[in-house]
Amino acid sequence: MSRIDLHTHTTFSDGSFSPTALVDLATQQGLDILAITDHDTTEGLAEAQEATKGLSMELIPGIELSAQFQNREMHILGYFINPTDPHFQARLETHRTTRIGRLHQILDRLQALGMDISLAEVELASGTGTIGRPHIAQVLIDKGYIKTMKDAFEQLLGSRGKAYVPRIVPEAHEIIEWITDAGGIPILAHPYWEGYNKEDSATACQTLVEQGLRGLEVFYGTFSARHISFNLGLAKRFELLMTGGSDFHGTLKPDITLGKGKGSLHVPSKLVEQLRIAAGQ
Ligand SMILES: [Zn+2]
Ligand SMILES: [Zn+2]
Repeated sequence: MSRIDLHTHTTFSDGSFSPTALVDLATQQGLDILAITDHDTTEGLAEAQEATKGLSMELIPGIELSAQFQNREMHILGYFINPTDPHFQARLETHRTTRIGRLHQILDRLQALGMDISLAEVELASGTGTIGRPHIAQVLIDKGYIKTMKDAFEQLLGSRGKAYVPRIVPEAHEIIEWITDAGGIPILAHPYWEGYNKEDSATACQTLVEQGLRGLEVFYGTFSARHISFNLGLAKRFELLMTGGSDFHGTLKPDITLGKGKGSLHVPSKLVEQLRIAAGQ
């Protein structure tokens, strides 16, 4: 039985393992196929590619991009993208700029709440990678303003938090186009459809498929059997490709284990075969 994890983050976004350390961990855990899907960047892929040289484990180039759909943020994964495509890289660069603008606004709100943290401190926490809200949370914890990552998101940084600032990101159909233009396969990440009933989910899925969406992340680190079976139904109904992954972030999401999620993650290898065929790989 192959062990597969198609959703992981490194220090190039908000994971705590460098690409090399992540490849080492994946090897130790006996993974056969690993995809790295950093937020908004492909910069960690070259290092990971180098680290897998001589190993039997396969590395699939990936990315996870934020998009909006009906005024809500959603994440779209891209697999088998060509990271050296200059047009794609130019699009990613503008995407990252909106991330920094938002960070400044969040820090201003935290200042107003009496929490004194600077962009320099957040940059230090993020190392070389894309800066995200988990890094702000880490600094808040380090400086004693809040106790846990969960509290930081619930009370301050999450969509109901006091310092929350929505991010202006491209529409889902644009992100789908970016991924497709870069030779990749766009897949809807962790489809949880917060606030959507089953019928709404199906309608939303239909719209996205018409816009070029090719698949669903049916299997995910924290999904229940019921949730997975609902996703399987959607994938079948719209003839979508299926993927799965843990959404591993290392110490920034300590309850998620690489290749296993919360323990029961299993990604069938035939799904990766279908993905590969769709990507012409
Ligand atoms: Zn995500
Ligand atoms: Zn992710």
